Parts: sequence; structure tokens; C-alpha cells
Amino acid sequence: MFYQTEKIVLKKGKETFFRGRHPWIFSGAIASYPASFKDGAICSIHSHSGELLGHGYFRKSNSLAGRILSFGEEDPWSAVYRHLDQAIHMRDSLIDLNATNAYRVVNGEGDHIPGLIVDQYGEYLVLQSSTLGIDLMKENIVSHLAKKGRWKGIFEKSTSTSREQEGLTQNIGLLWGENKEELTIRENNLHFLINWKKGQKTGFFLDQREMRSLIGTLSKNRKVLNCFSYTGGFSIYALKGGATRVDSLDCSAAALDEARKNFSLNQLNVEENLFIEKDAFDFLRKDPLQYDLIILDPPAFIKRKNDVSQGVKGYREINAQVLSKMPKGSILLTCSCSYYMDEALFRTTLFQAGQNAGRDLQILKESFHPLDHPISLFHPEGRYLKSLLIYVSN
Ligand code: SAH
Repeated sequence: MFYQTEKIVLKKGKETFFRGRHPWIFSGAIASYPASFKDGAICSIHSHSGELLGHGYFRKSNSLAGRILSFGEEDPWSAVYRHLDQAIHMRDSLIDLNATNAYRVVNGEGDHIPGLIVDQYGEYLVLQSSTLGIDLMKENIVSHLAKKGRWKGIFEKSTSTSREQEGLTQNIGLLWGENKEELTIRENNLHFLINWKKGQKTGFFLDQREMRSLIGTLSKNRKVLNCFSYTGGFSIYALKGGATRVDSLDCSAAALDEARKNFSLNQLNVEENLFIEKDAFDFLRKDPLQYDLIILDPPAFIKRKNDVSQGVKGYREINAQVLSKMPKGSILLTCSCSYYMDEALFRTTLFQAGQNAGRDLQILKESFHPLDHPISLFHPEGRYLKSLLIYVSN
């Protein structure tokens, strides 16, 4: 049965967005809303000449007013369920489920459901809604996922800052099934404790799995600094990969406590490796940084468009400190998860940091999102994570 919706009409010429399959509609493209329009509602979208272009949900006062759920004549709910099923199927075909049971199942626009994130932690899912539209669709989405019979419980952790812009409060709690706050997950046959409620994001930085793996392969006989370590993810891969010692630094005592527990869970020694509770900027300025491998995976220094120049300064400083002091032959893995810093700006910032450091530097690898965080080809704005692996050759 076709979903009954009210019509939104675009201004003349704006239907070209649909040909480009970009999932957003800005307010300036909209000619008219239906008289009875309610924020968050799914509407049909029509060209100025009346052609049905697709369906999406809208919030009138947003500059990013509409997010598209289906293109053409497809019923929007059929499209959402199809996209959920395809997202699940895609991960089943990409991830070695015997080795890894924690990964992103739905990546917003990247999986054609704007505003929705779903992360799997073993037998549980954590859902994150960043819009009113998804809040209103949540119940149906949860019941569709619950019916799969794959999971024991579905939790919500909708705490993103973009919710504030939509006038939404945070939602944290059980949506369906069995409640459980402390979970143990498997990632490449290593084990991690996850507290989805207290932890950052939905509990773990799933987007760094491939970089953690890479570090595992590079750590043999190296002394490693894992700066901005959170719960010790990179540290554990490095030690399992044969690092002689790993120092984990974070300003959060709670994160370091979890890191110690994760070391024990993986039969690693918490006495021989340091857990440093310090501000990274301060530490990097003062320490001689005689490490053979350093990981810099800071939080997003740029949270808003206006923060770009201040944020760039932060990235430049930490990278220049490290690059000026690391020994010859050492390796730096440096990352930025700032959405407002694109790949070119990140490379330029590293270029400046390298010049300030006065060293010979080679890029070994440039990486982006892991396989379970797909990005729509038509939505380049979905890219946020960038990593550079740099060799200090002189
Ligand atoms: N690399 C981690 C994720 C890092 S998240 C992983 O793979 O799991 C960023 C971490 O930086 C958080 O744990 C946060 O507590 C820490 N942090 C933020 N600002 C900091 C600062 N100024 N000094 C030290 N740590 C900081």
C-alpha cells in the first residue's frame, strides 16, 4: 500500500538535486509546504511541474530542512526497511563475524537513512537518532530490527550535539528487549569492555578498527605512545603485535581505568606499561617523546564551522611537537575526526607541522573510514575521519 503523504513542492529547477541523488534539501529550494505540515513528518516531494521526485522528512525552521528517504516512486517506509535490511546484509558479507562482533550496522546517509546510526555490540544494538524525523520513525525502526531475532536488546543513546539544533533533548535508555549496560565485545579476536551508557559515542570508537589493526602489524619491537588512548584500543593491538612497551595517555581517569580492565581481559600486563592521566598538549610539550611509534587520535578539535582556525592550530601544534622530537625511523599515525576539516586541510596542516618540525617525512598511507562506515558516493559530506601514517626518515 502506498504511504499517504502531504506534498512539498520544490522551486523551479531544484529537482536537479534529485538527479544527483544527494540526500539533503536546503530550505532555499522549497517553494511550498502543505498547509497542515508538522515538523518531522514524512512528505512526498514534487518538482515545480508536479512530478513525484521522492519522499523525505522535513523540519521547517532548519536550513537543512529536508532529508530524503526514497527517490522516485518507492514508498518511503518500504525504502527504509529495504535500506535497513541491505545495511545488515552488507556487514554480514564484509565482516569476519567470528573474529569481530562489534561494528556499525547503519551509518546514516551512508546507508541511505539520514539521521540514523545503529551500532552493534555483540548481541545488543545501540541506536542514535540525530533528528526529529528519526525520533518519530524510531518505534517502527526498532520493531523492524527486533523482528530479525538476531539481538537481545536495543538501546538508545541519542546525545549528539546536532539534536540541540533541532530543539531535541537527549534520549538514553532501553528501547526493546533485555537491559544490559556492561558488555564485552570481540574485535579481531581481542576483547573490550563496553559501557554504552557511560562511554563516549555509543560506547566504543568502532570507526578506528582498521587503524587499530594496522598498528598491530607495525608495533613489533617498538616502544609505543598511544596518545588520546580512551579505553586502550590501540594499546592492546600494539602489545599483541609485539610492542616492547605501550604508554597510554588520556585526560580521563575513567577511560584509563577501563583501559586497565581491557589489558587484563586480554591477558596483558598493567604493571609494565604506563597509564598516564594528563593533558596531551601539556605532555607533548614537555616529554622528550622518545617513542618508535606514536598514535595521535584526538577528539574533534573543530566542532563548529567557526572553530576551524582555532582547531587547525591544535592539530598543527600536537603534530609539530611529535614530529620534531620523534627519533629517526619512527612512525606516526595521526588522525582527525573533525567533520569541518577535509582531507586537503588535514594534509596541509600536517605539511605545516612537518615544516615547523624541520624533518624529512614520508606518507606511508592515507586512510579514511572502515568498511562498516560506508559513505554515499553522492554525499561527500559524510566523510569525517582521516588518518595519515607518516614515516620520520630524517
Ligand atoms: N583512539 C581511541 C579513541 C580516542 S577518543 C580509540 O581507538 O578508542 C579521544 C580521547 O581523547 C578521549 O578518551 C578523551 O578523554 C581524550 N582527550 C580529550 N582531550 C584530551 C586532552 N586534552 N588530553 C588528553 N586526552 C584528551
